Amino acid sequence: MIQTYLNQGWPKYMRKVAPIAKSFWPVKDHLRYRDGVLFMGERIIIPASQRQNVLAQLHESHQEIQRTKERARQLMYWPGMSKDIESAVGSCFVCACFAPNNQKEPLKPHEIPEGPWQKVGVDIFEQDNRSFLLVIDYFSKYPVVVSLPDKTARTVIVKMKSVFARHGTPLIVVSDNMPFASQEFKVFAKEWGFEQCFSSPGYPQSNGMVERAIQSIKQLTHKVGKARGDLYAALLEYRNTPVTGLSYSPAQILMGRMLRSKLPITTDLLCPRIPINVRQDLQRAQERQKHFYDRTARPLKPLREGDLVWMQSNNCKERWLPAVVIEKCKQPRSYLIKNQDGRVYRRNRRQLKQRNQTPETTIQGNTTYNGSKGMFVNKSDAHVIADRKPTYVTSHGRPVFEPVRYTP
Ligand SMILES: [Zn+2]
Repeated sequence: MIQTYLNQGWPKYMRKVAPIAKSFWPVKDHLRYRDGVLFMGERIIIPASQRQNVLAQLHESHQEIQRTKERARQLMYWPGMSKDIESAVGSCFVCACFAPNNQKEPLKPHEIPEGPWQKVGVDIFEQDNRSFLLVIDYFSKYPVVVSLPDKTARTVIVKMKSVFARHGTPLIVVSDNMPFASQEFKVFAKEWGFEQCFSSPGYPQSNGMVERAIQSIKQLTHKVGKARGDLYAALLEYRNTPVTGLSYSPAQILMGRMLRSKLPITTDLLCPRIPINVRQDLQRAQERQKHFYDRTARPLKPLREGDLVWMQSNNCKERWLPAVVIEKCKQPRSYLIKNQDGRVYRRNRRQLKQRNQTPETTIQGNTTYNGSKGMFVNKSDAHVIADRKPTYVTSHGRPVFEPVRYTP
């Protein structure tokens, strides 16, 4: 048809063009035939029957959408090529596995407590093959760092008791799950009379200012370790340094006085003075932090039960694994999800991405991802998968097949 138009001229109006050639109307002046091949400028026009094949070849290097488009535009053209590339790359299972992190969501700051040591965060971290327990006050940001001989609930509880014996028992203890969600810990919480609150594991942004303080302490421990310095002298200085955005230090907010350290200080300055307006100042600092943080943040769409998702794995940052949403947790932006082995995890919304396709149907180039087996198989085998009847269908309508053995 296009050949006819090229030989005899195009109709004057687009509505007169045969439906099959309509999509070429915008580029009609650049079309020509050479040796039986249709070109637009220097770019070969790929016939519809060849496009799937060419798309697979274009994406052989698994580059992202924009780069794939740019490569294609050097050589070829067909109407709707950009859209086809977007959908082909967008549905590539391999690329999805290695996709970048989600954008950050606007901060949801915790409510600032009424006074010091009412709400503390606890966290366990490693440094030079040693484990440390960090207890930090949400109000004063006063950190306590305790070395842990092991990470059993029993040991952690003993260390926490020693910290609470010094500063009092907080009303609320915020932590992630391990080992703080254990039965032993629940008994401890009940006996000592504090409430437990769990934030999503591996997901810091829900704590704002406290999380920043936790990062600072970890970094301080790391640096002092590298410099072979005195960790306790360093912590003493940290506790004496004004909280970012405030005129008082953690020690002043918690204990009402400066602590004597290696640095020179008059005895006058060591006398207790109760800091005033701390809560307002904290509120203002938190709002300021939220303002700056939120400038580059956007909310993510809430997920529903049964949604297919990618779950960011903890071990390796760029890995996304297929999973399904079981339910929304009562904590904001938190979801219970189940992976393909049937294991259940709790994840923050930012660690989850919506997933449209089922792995079994995604075919790229010569391999396809066999989701039920978690591996790549030859395309010829993939047809076997596609032709077979599913062994059973999950409650979410995803067909599950007996695994096909991979023969290299
Ligand atoms: Zn890819």
